[in-house]
Amino acid sequence: MDSTLQAPTPVGIDPDSSEQLMDEYQASQESVRPSRTKIVATVGPSCGEVDQLTQLVRSGASVFRLNMAHGEPETQQIFVDRIRQVGEDLDVPLAILVDLAGPKFRLGELAGESIFCSRGEEFFFVKGESKAPNELQSSYEPLVDELSVGDLVMLADGTVSMLVEEASADRVRMRVQQQGTIRSKQGINLPGVRLSVPAISVEDHKHAIWAAKTGADFVSLSFVRSPDEVRTLKDIIRSSGSRASVIAKIEKSEALERLDEIVSEADGVMVARGDLGVEIDVAQMPLAQKRIIRKCQQYHKPVIIATQMLDSMHESQRPTRAETTDVANAILDGADACMLSGETAIGKHPRLAVEMMNRIALATEESIAGQPLRESGSKRADGLHAVTSAVVHGAGTMAHVLEAKLVVVASHSGRTALALSQQRSFVPTVGVSTFETTLRQMCLLWGVTPLRNAPATDVEQLIRHTDSWACRQGLATRGDRIVIVGGSHLTAGSNDSKMASGVHDIVIVHEVECLGSCEI
Ligand code: PEP
Repeated sequence: MDSTLQAPTPVGIDPDSSEQLMDEYQASQESVRPSRTKIVATVGPSCGEVDQLTQLVRSGASVFRLNMAHGEPETQQIFVDRIRQVGEDLDVPLAILVDLAGPKFRLGELAGESIFCSRGEEFFFVKGESKAPNELQSSYEPLVDELSVGDLVMLADGTVSMLVEEASADRVRMRVQQQGTIRSKQGINLPGVRLSVPAISVEDHKHAIWAAKTGADFVSLSFVRSPDEVRTLKDIIRSSGSRASVIAKIEKSEALERLDEIVSEADGVMVARGDLGVEIDVAQMPLAQKRIIRKCQQYHKPVIIATQMLDSMHESQRPTRAETTDVANAILDGADACMLSGETAIGKHPRLAVEMMNRIALATEESIAGQPLRESGSKRADGLHAVTSAVVHGAGTMAHVLEAKLVVVASHSGRTALALSQQRSFVPTVGVSTFETTLRQMCLLWGVTPLRNAPATDVEQLIRHTDSWACRQGLATRGDRIVIVGGSHLTAGSNDSKMASGVHDIVIVHEVECLGSCEI
């Protein structure tokens, strides 16, 4: 049974009150009503046990991100196995997103635990060993060769900046512009510096093959600069026999310069604001985010907004007003999914963070009911057959006009489900497929609930199954209308070659008959 679609979310809780905290604890034993906006939760020590992952699912998460910058395949495999177990136990599709580190390089070991860099002080990047506390090393060997006078070096998540004043064969001299504290192994960002580093390192390649073999549903590539890099990752994944979708993380100005090509090539996009907010002027980031979302809408690609969405909930049980507004604005702009990073991976309140994101989404979504994502400038790059496009459009309208309680889409690749998702219809939409990967990939689609074990190739059986399921979920009752979208495969029985042709040319309007088990 789909236990993620049960009790309504408790709203108006003041988590500062202990009585209400107890209520919240009890509520956590049940499932919330999940928002239409999908929630991606990053897995880490704070949430990696089976019962913790189960709580996150019950609180609204359906995609789990494994950050390969913080764990080798051997460690991450433990999380993969647990997530799959939770999916089985709750009988819901759960998606796994393997996030490749990409060409991110880091500071070497510093002389002390940390160094305070005062404004005007000189520091050096050196080749070989550092002999003084102000001589820094990086994990990217050619760095000294590739930096030039005038380049800006950003350290400590952009809180410290240094300007390159002199570059010689074995060292680069920099002066601190913005002072602050740096620590060993912190990331280095070089806004606007074009580096020769390959997009997919040997390590990324190894991790991508592992992701493909372990059955990841999404693989994301960090620091994408060109569509070729997305294509290369797709080739690696496909040649390892996987149908995982490739997500391009937009976090460099070079990616913004080639946004159309990258979005067109990728299966989905992540606005990776952590690095993007350092690689470009942080003041430009809000508009960059909106531009990326619009581009994804034009190319019909799902988009995830990531990083610092509920950052204060690392420590606090409550987000700031600005954070709740940030999540709401991302949804209003058209985000398909919002992501939690450290909040769930290492934060003190992973479950509360997911619950809060779900509550904000539920409260926000009401206001965009029935407003399809913009059609103007649509690139028609959704790969849909013209007939399917028209049928999906018609089905959405019919569901609205007929006040249907549910739309069911039988989808082979998931593209038809994506098209329905982009209508932003408020009629609940259920996706069915013969492919488990397709079902899991629907976990990223706004407003689409993937349903396991539904007979996706036989219309009579599908109707009986969804009638019964919708009644058990309290979504429909006798006489209510359900709209079913499918292809000829639905009436031709289980015929994979017909299904593979992918044309959706059938819309069925059905009135629920309540067959036995649906009497509630
Ligand atoms: C980001 O930069 O926002 C991001 C999601 O990537 P990472 O966690 O790898 O920094």
